[in-house]
Amino acid sequence: MHKRRLIGWTGFSLMLLLAASSLQAADFPVRDKVITLIVPFPAGGPTDRVAKDLAQAMRRPLGGATIALENVAGAGGSVGANKAARANPDGYTLLLHHIGMATMPTLVRNLPFNVERDFEYLGLVIEVPMTLITKPSIPGSSFKDLSNWITQNRDKINLGHAGPGSASHLCGLLLQSTLQTEMTTIAYRGTAPAMKDLIGGQIDLMCDQTTNTTSQIEARKVKAFGVTTVQRLATPVLKDVPTLLESGLKGFDITVWHGLYAPKGVPPEVLARLHTALQAALQDPEFMRKQLALGAVVVRDGRTEPEQHRRFVAAEIARWSPIIRAAGVYAD
Ligand code: ASP
Repeated sequence: MHKRRLIGWTGFSLMLLLAASSLQAADFPVRDKVITLIVPFPAGGPTDRVAKDLAQAMRRPLGGATIALENVAGAGGSVGANKAARANPDGYTLLLHHIGMATMPTLVRNLPFNVERDFEYLGLVIEVPMTLITKPSIPGSSFKDLSNWITQNRDKINLGHAGPGSASHLCGLLLQSTLQTEMTTIAYRGTAPAMKDLIGGQIDLMCDQTTNTTSQIEARKVKAFGVTTVQRLATPVLKDVPTLLESGLKGFDITVWHGLYAPKGVPPEVLARLHTALQAALQDPEFMRKQLALGAVVVRDGRTEPEQHRRFVAAEIARWSPIIRAAGVYAD
């Protein structure tokens, strides 16, 4: 009897829970309730920049909802990703992350979350090439000049990056292993603060997304010695910068993709609403124009669908894991 009453109550609570979740989905997003978009790197950097544009482009399709950015920087983007993984799965906390979702599982031991299990995948957003940039006082303009300078100064060089598992860390690792040179690496919380130090000459070189480097290269505050893609870029400022591949750096092919995530367990109807808003943002001409101007490309293929996004990230983990292991560098 007591047991039956217990079952009755459990069933009732379950019904209430289901009713509450479908009500929540129908209303999502509730007027005046802010959606938080976690950016796992500091304000003013490349991830922050695309997050701002995306938040703006998703606002209208979400009925004018406010999407507020929260910069949760640290440990190469894993602090912010961990916060997102542990957030209430109600659709009001999202995460914009990049290729780090595929490199962190190999690069960071004891990652406090599981990239494949702890997130809902909403779709890829943009792809961005990287540029290898230096402080302005490095002599010459060709990669050969840079590589001579590296050989002559190998013990004094400081390479900046955005922390273990970040895109700039991956690129820096590949650079060192391809050139067979070890450099002193300085980990920042993101490339926004690293860029300040590069311009000021406190560090010598780093890789960073074109979304952060294009205007600095144009203003001659930093020097570009190579792009990380297979083809040269069409952006006017970058079109004469050779690819690292054509400069003889074998296998140098990095494109930094960014994707949108939510914590695991968001009700399917809420996910569908968010996904439709993302699709609308990706078709938004103003969003596209802003990305193109900085050398980024808005993803328009099947990887904007949750399942293909998930499969793509799994394939990227498989792609980068042996390359990172071969470079022989780990970060805790
Ligand atoms: N550019 C950084 C990276 O290398 C990310 C950022 O600072 O937004 O991953």
